[in-house]
Amino acid sequence: MQHCDTLIAPRWCVPVAPAGGVLEGHAVAVSDGRIAAVLPLDEARARFQPSVSIERPRHVLIPGLVNAHTHAAMTLFRGLADDLPLEAWLHEGIWPAERRWVSAEMVRDGTGLAVAEMLRGGITCFSDQYFFPEIVAEVATALSVRAVVATPVADFPSAWADNATEYLQKGADLVHDPYADHPLIATAFAPHSTLSLSDESLSALRVLADQLDARVQIHLHESAAEVEVSLRDTGKRPFERLAGAGLVNRSLLAVHAVHLTGDELRQFAEAGVCIAHCPNSNLKLAGGIAPVDRYLKAGLNVALGTDGAASNNLLDMFSEMRSAALLAKGVSGDASALPAAGALSMATIAGARALGLERHIGSIEPGKLADLACVDLGTPNSQPVYDVVSQLVYATRADQVADVWVGGRHLLDDGRFTRLDPAAAGARADEWRARIASASAIQ
Ligand SMILES: [Zn+2]
Repeated sequence: MQHCDTLIAPRWCVPVAPAGGVLEGHAVAVSDGRIAAVLPLDEARARFQPSVSIERPRHVLIPGLVNAHTHAAMTLFRGLADDLPLEAWLHEGIWPAERRWVSAEMVRDGTGLAVAEMLRGGITCFSDQYFFPEIVAEVATALSVRAVVATPVADFPSAWADNATEYLQKGADLVHDPYADHPLIATAFAPHSTLSLSDESLSALRVLADQLDARVQIHLHESAAEVEVSLRDTGKRPFERLAGAGLVNRSLLAVHAVHLTGDELRQFAEAGVCIAHCPNSNLKLAGGIAPVDRYLKAGLNVALGTDGAASNNLLDMFSEMRSAALLAKGVSGDASALPAAGALSMATIAGARALGLERHIGSIEPGKLADLACVDLGTPNSQPVYDVVSQLVYATRADQVADVWVGGRHLLDDGRFTRLDPAAAGARADEWRARIASASAIQ
């Protein structure tokens, strides 16, 4: 008999790779934080002596969901500036709040709340871009969740840095060390958008990213207004400015990419650029609807993200999968556009690919890290189960996630957190609400 740390026996297992497969009556063996084997349950019982055995007879085991784009600390601004278009939301709602409230303490508490929400909904890896990224990395490490911590880059001053030179220097310090070979944290650069950077700053970013072999993620062509302002102020579309700086390459993650011309789409596909599609955020800010079906047909890797809780307002990848699939059909007029399996791939393996982590996470395959989520399909809204993947995308709520493992650590056990105190995270969020609401009332 071979020892393993954990043997998980769900009713179904959807490994995502190879695509389209649904295994019934199989088990997943986990050892040293990695997937040791995926095999029929009777074979697993004959082969493995597990330290812990988990049986989930109504459940489906899936790869942990990958949230390819968020601003975790913005959970503390959830509901603060709703029902505004993107530009007014930024200039009148969010940026004034950020100037007033962003601090290391705010990022620590907001990220803790976000991690509680994301883990509860089966998200095991999130890509974050926000101020005080070193605090995001600390919180993620302390709570044992996987994160891509992307450091902001801008010409404007903030509580974290005064100018582009300081942003780049502080970012380089974080990218270079101490997270170079960290088991949970990867790093990247994250300019907010081309509107917040001069051509010189974009070029300096490209040189630094090349030197450090770092990935770059940026909000790009999120709204028609973003493109218009860029044309007015610089004579160029944001895409052209990025391309001019040499940043349109396979290390780029273009967030949103709602408004691309056919030529820009071709150049993205040729360069191997990935897209983070955030359908609910795009809908709420009325930025438009990305033509995802066209992007997929062009061969682009399209991941899914929630964006921040101030523009969504949930960090819920089940909701994003459902919205992405429904919108793709509605926009294309083709009900077969983005089928359920495609939406699940976007939320798992495509997300991993967009973050440069596909060798490690995104599917249930031997040798990969054991980042897993187990979903209860026994609830009334998920019955009866003719098609497991269809059920996951079209008829599952985030709170049906029963178990979550990250690197083999059991962080959510039958609905209960093992390391995180959600009540404490909620209490700190309520303290922030009281401070922010009373200051808003005075103004
Ligand atoms: Zn965003």
